[in-house]
Amino acid sequence: MDHERQRMVKTQLARRGISDQAVLWAMSTVPRHLFLPEKVRAHAYEDRALPLDEGQTISQPFVVALMAQALMLQNTDRLLEVGTGSGYAAAVLSLLTSEVYTVERSQMLANIAQQRLDQLGYHNVHVFHRDGTAGLPEYAPYDAISVAAASPWVPLPLRQQLAHEGRLIIPVGGRSEQLLLRLKRRRDTIHVEQLSGVRFVPLVGEHAWDN
Ligand code: SAH
Repeated sequence: MDHERQRMVKTQLARRGISDQAVLWAMSTVPRHLFLPEKVRAHAYEDRALPLDEGQTISQPFVVALMAQALMLQNTDRLLEVGTGSGYAAAVLSLLTSEVYTVERSQMLANIAQQRLDQLGYHNVHVFHRDGTAGLPEYAPYDAISVAAASPWVPLPLRQQLAHEGRLIIPVGGRSEQLLLRLKRRRDTIHVEQLSGVRFVPLVGEHAWDN
């Protein structure tokens, strides 16, 4: 598995424009296969998203790396992730930041992810079971926010929980196809950039899709 992971980093990430060395290192370290249900483990290092329980998916490795790179992380940053899923992206992000707060709507996925992250020793990841469209105000503001599910717009509470100089990455668009956006905050101004076309499962909650 280690050999397959190093090959994934080389062929799927470095060759396709992921150049941030810290991101490449994090992706080469986290055992993606251990975050997957047994029946799909053999496919862990392929260039694709894979099914989790509850009809959800773990993102393609390239997309996890692209989002991590676009967040321009520093190891003192505090990060909020919306959509814990398997906990895999949270583990990658935790190697690039000081604390990761990650929020998951499904109780079952949140429990499995927390258990796995604890077992594997990712002690700076904190999993919360709740609607992440409202963010996590108790620990705000965040230097970086990563939204791993597709929204029709940028939920207002997430903008409000972004620190000065904070970055927020979110797929915005329809239920099946979206554009990955990066928002950067400077005091009261928010600058928006379009990064690339993506496909994520819907973000369901009070400030996004209602089912
Ligand atoms: N980052 C994950 C993949 C996320 S898939 C990984 O590495 O495995 C998107 C996740 O967002 C799903 O698990 C889904 O249940 C969750 N989700 C959808 N709407 C949500 C909401 N309002 N709050 C929190 N999580 C949500």
